[in-house]
Amino acid sequence: MNKYIFSLFVIVIFQTTKAQNHTFTKQDSLRGSITPERAWWDLTYYHLDISVDPSTKSIKGKNSVHYKVLEPDSVLQIDLQAPLIITKVTQNDKELEVRTDGNAHFITLKNDQKKGSLQSLDVYYEGQPQEAKRAPWDGGFSWKKDDNGNDFIATSCQGLGASVWWPNKDHMYDEVDSMLISVRIPKALMEVSNGQLRRIEDHKDGTKTYNWFVNSPINNYGVNVNIGDYVHFSEDYKGEKGLLKMDYYVLKDNLEKAKKQFKDAPRMMEAFEHWFGPYPFYEDGYKLVEVPYLGMEHQSSVTYGNGYENGYLGRDLSGTGWGLKFDFIIIHESAHEWFANNITYKDMADMWIHESFTAYAESLFLEYFYGKKAGAEYVIGTRQGIQNDAPIIGPYNVNQPGSGDMYYKGANILHTLRQWINDDEQWRQILRGLNKTFYHQTVTTEQIENYISKTSGIDLSAFFDQYLRSTMIPNLEYEIKDQQLKYRWTNSVDKFEMPVQVVMGEKELWLYPKKDWSLTLINVGDLRVSSDFYVTSKRL
Ligand SMILES: [Zn+2]
Repeated sequence: MNKYIFSLFVIVIFQTTKAQNHTFTKQDSLRGSITPERAWWDLTYYHLDISVDPSTKSIKGKNSVHYKVLEPDSVLQIDLQAPLIITKVTQNDKELEVRTDGNAHFITLKNDQKKGSLQSLDVYYEGQPQEAKRAPWDGGFSWKKDDNGNDFIATSCQGLGASVWWPNKDHMYDEVDSMLISVRIPKALMEVSNGQLRRIEDHKDGTKTYNWFVNSPINNYGVNVNIGDYVHFSEDYKGEKGLLKMDYYVLKDNLEKAKKQFKDAPRMMEAFEHWFGPYPFYEDGYKLVEVPYLGMEHQSSVTYGNGYENGYLGRDLSGTGWGLKFDFIIIHESAHEWFANNITYKDMADMWIHESFTAYAESLFLEYFYGKKAGAEYVIGTRQGIQNDAPIIGPYNVNQPGSGDMYYKGANILHTLRQWINDDEQWRQILRGLNKTFYHQTVTTEQIENYISKTSGIDLSAFFDQYLRSTMIPNLEYEIKDQQLKYRWTNSVDKFEMPVQVVMGEKELWLYPKKDWSLTLINVGDLRVSSDFYVTSKRL
């Protein structure tokens, strides 16, 4: 493998591979499991209301947490990471006792929590939030300056968790139905968060507050604050659900470059509405927001820092040339609007639901504009980044992802599955059906696997066990003797069966290998497995 390209892959998957060989602590369980102090209440709404002071790199404010009582209880868990501190928690103006265990804060409620009732509490907090070491992978607050010396500030927190900068129920299974984000900043700058801008309030002290309202369920890591010397331009997109406002916020100096490069945004929308169905957040609009790091799939405000170049920082991850036909960050991060923001994993172990479909989406974008061969060449090209170091599905309940193979092995699993289904329109309807069936939901891998099995009419349980839960790549072992072909699957899990397309001489045909030998007569000297299948083969 090209060492240079390999190092790029390492960058892409860094966050996910470092998680291997980890011993888990009580803190991991408090963060990664649905603890009893989380389970009894269901989030309905957050109002995050903070001021950001670039001169001291500090934030201060409160989050109002609204919830419905599922089962009466009196202790509730809120997460917030040091060095930020909770200064006060109140419910109905009564100050409440807080017991802290690392990043988990257990609040004892005084009021009766009647089943079915709607309640809220205000969590006040302040401090200097953790500074991002390597955004977006090792996130937090990025306090940067633009070329003109203006503050250029952004948050990123996938994996680490939103509790690195604001107090919340920091587990993916539960999402609010809507959210208001109010951010007070120095007057000279502009602030962009998720959803639609409701109003800007001016204050006498040289600050102003931006109020952004998110009309849809949103996952915690999707919430973001971006502050800079921005200029704004927009366009109306005629999509499957009508008119969609597409807004762009970029640094003043980059306006001309952005007007050119962001032409990929409506192209993206056209391709992905075709493959995945309507953009899932028409009410919240779609935004691309420039940030001082590579980018992230923040819901309805996708962040962008790819240098106004095609490829991944100007490079093609597939090594085929096709990766230079699009801006990697616009295409990849926006595909997450369907797989990550619309359909969201409940547990980070199932992060393939986000990254495999999204890495695969890169090839579907190419297919839409450049044909089926282009998409196939791209996805096959990305195999050079596959490590097979650990299973794609990670350990549950400890907030840990599986192998970084969730990106390009994941993409190739889906490409392989499409060959098996062997009906492009049915395959597209499965992708669209996933987005319709699990619209604005958090899901488990079993829900996704079962949906694809059910709608394709194929029992795919061994297929998913093979590719998601083991590191074995199925091997087609075969022998040709006296015009007889003997073949079977090796290096495979129990009950693994998958048809595979092979080329013999001039002819393409299907074999149906099982774990036991099958036999057929042929009149050619050798065969070749179609490269669309992510398998190996060995002639005995
Ligand atoms: Zn991604």
